[in-house]
Amino acid sequence: FAPWDDPKETPLIRFEGVTKRFGDFTAIDNVSVDIFAREFFALLGPSGCGKTTLMRMLGGFETPTEGKIWLGGQDIGRTPPNKRPVNMMFQSYALFPHLSVWENIAFGLRRERLDKDKIAARVEEMLRLTRLQRFAKRKPHQISGGQRQRVALARSLAKAPKLLLLDEPLGALDAKLRQDTQFELVDIQEKTGTTFVIVTHDQEEAMTVATRVAVMDEGRIVQISTPDKIYEEPQSVYVADFIGDVNIIEGTASATGPETYAITWGEGRPPLIAQSQRSFSEGQACSLAIRPEKVAIHAQEPEALNRVRGKILDIAYLGNLSTYHVELAGGQIVKAQEANTRRIARRSFTWEDEVWLSWSDTAGVLLAE
Ligand code: ATP
Repeated sequence: FAPWDDPKETPLIRFEGVTKRFGDFTAIDNVSVDIFAREFFALLGPSGCGKTTLMRMLGGFETPTEGKIWLGGQDIGRTPPNKRPVNMMFQSYALFPHLSVWENIAFGLRRERLDKDKIAARVEEMLRLTRLQRFAKRKPHQISGGQRQRVALARSLAKAPKLLLLDEPLGALDAKLRQDTQFELVDIQEKTGTTFVIVTHDQEEAMTVATRVAVMDEGRIVQISTPDKIYEEPQSVYVADFIGDVNIIEGTASATGPETYAITWGEGRPPLIAQSQRSFSEGQACSLAIRPEKVAIHAQEPEALNRVRGKILDIAYLGNLSTYHVELAGGQIVKAQEANTRRIARRSFTWEDEVWLSWSDTAGVLLAE
């Protein structure tokens, strides 16, 4: 067992300075991260950032070029997949078409040569967990895509792995089913207490299912946090931009008080005021990241610390919300989002309206460029 710094806080998984190269291409660049038992951990990032490679190293399908991977205190960097207490659910589900749902779930247990009663009890338990009892006798082609996804999940959990890896598990499902299935996944993860690591490029999915999210960029983890912190306190423009909608206003910072900065941005405009715990030197280039829902829209000039004038260029109507794209003098677009509590017929703003936007000094996050 590895000499952890604090034995009480022993993570289930530890990546220690892991690098993976394919030829001279670095797919994973010196990644260190701890994942704890019972976590639902998401690896999130755009295509090609290395999330699948990181997961495949956990599954044993790739070996690290440098660094160590520990599982339960054991170095598993070179342990083959079938010798790890880890299972992986693939995007394609890989169900056996000629076997029934019941037999698909039992398959791995049979190979373990467990006795019949034990196998039957375990399969029944998995069928209950994934609400598939009614479909036990059907073949994969006789059930829906969502049900197939649940069979794959039941089969992956049947052998009670310590860790389940999910590679874009909901990729094949349509939007509505995907959402329902996300909640089901969370429910099943909580009931079994298995540690789940999911790979996804869908930020909403990561935020919905995961207890912690690692955002990746070009082979590195650039931020690891709970979903709310990732959203509210992004540490870089990259993360702010990747997670949800955001306005980025570029300027230069100048301190006006403790943790308060005036941001100069463009000719003839009054500076913006923003609070920041991160410190900036005089004249340092910075970006103010503000979520559209933190920007208020007004017909008249409001009494607000930060206010700008503009014209409505576009309105994205989302049912419960509307996002207004407001063009400022000089062409910059700032988005403001409002809840549609009023009836549409009485919606207050329309295209071409001259409006004011405002936000408070704590609405945004000030980031170094
Ligand atoms: P996607 O969402 O598209 O699956 P990803 O973030 O999962 O992307 P990876 O599959 O981990 O990305 O790939 C990361 C990088 O490593 C990519 O640029 C890819 O081309 C490269 N790569 C992955 N596997 C190999 C391989 N076996 N040989 C060479 N390059 C590889």
